Amino acid sequence: MNVVLLGAPGAGKGTQSSKICEKLGICHISTGDIFRKHIAEKTPLGIVAKTYIDKGQLVPDEVTVDIVKERISKDDCKNGYLLDGFPRTVAQAEALEDFCIIDRVIDIDVPFELLLHRLTGRRVCPNCGASYHVDFYNDKNCSSCGETLIQRDDDNEETVGLRLNVYKRQTAPLIKYYKKAGVLVTVDGSKDSEDVFSDIVEALK
Ligand code: ADP
Ligand code: ADP
Ligand code: ZN
Repeated sequence: MNVVLLGAPGAGKGTQSSKICEKLGICHISTGDIFRKHIAEKTPLGIVAKTYIDKGQLVPDEVTVDIVKERISKDDCKNGYLLDGFPRTVAQAEALEDFCIIDRVIDIDVPFELLLHRLTGRRVCPNCGASYHVDFYNDKNCSSCGETLIQRDDDNEETVGLRLNVYKRQTAPLIKYYKKAGVLVTVDGSKDSEDVFSDIVEALK
């Protein structure tokens, strides 16, 4: 099964992705995680991607599409995959259609007022990618791997504002796009994480 997880920054895509992939035995592909790995390793792609990510802008479509195309051709994607944070523009969705069939698109819907709070309070594990919130987790270390948690550079209030505008302008049109294609299911992402997960499992049946 090939699934796309849609939702604004902070909607809970990363949080739900790991659980869905574990349950379905499919491969988790997060374009944001791929870019951050390149940035940490200072690869040529990382250096380019950082200039966009720091400004809250999207990395250009051509670059992003190629990365996904290469990633899903790997062996561990044979049983299916979950795309977290891709596509993020209609042009990316159109390009994706040329090399894969998407069975289901889950849109995690969260009111805008909540997103700013979720993102500015987010702490992440730079080692395994796990995501936490200061409201629910006080420990300084990751509960899965023990690494010291960090705040992402782009989770400051100013950049979050820019990213939410980019979402409205460039990504939100995908809701209509996938509704028209008949593959979209919307879940209420303002519920507790466990309840959101149950709703997603139901939507994937
Ligand atoms: P995304 O990948 O969509 O940007 P994350 O999964 O990283 O979002 O979640 C953003 C922040 O909100 C994190 O701090 C996370 O712990 C928190 N969060 C995720 N889901 C929920 C939820 N259902 N209720 C409350 N907080 C949540
Ligand atoms: P979040 O879900 O919190 O917005 P991500 O980790 O998915 O964060 O993405 C972080 C940044 O990486 C984005 O703000 C954007 O600059 C870049 N990025 C991730 N996915 C894409 C994509 N599909 N197209 C273009 N840029 C992307
Ligand atoms: Zn970790």
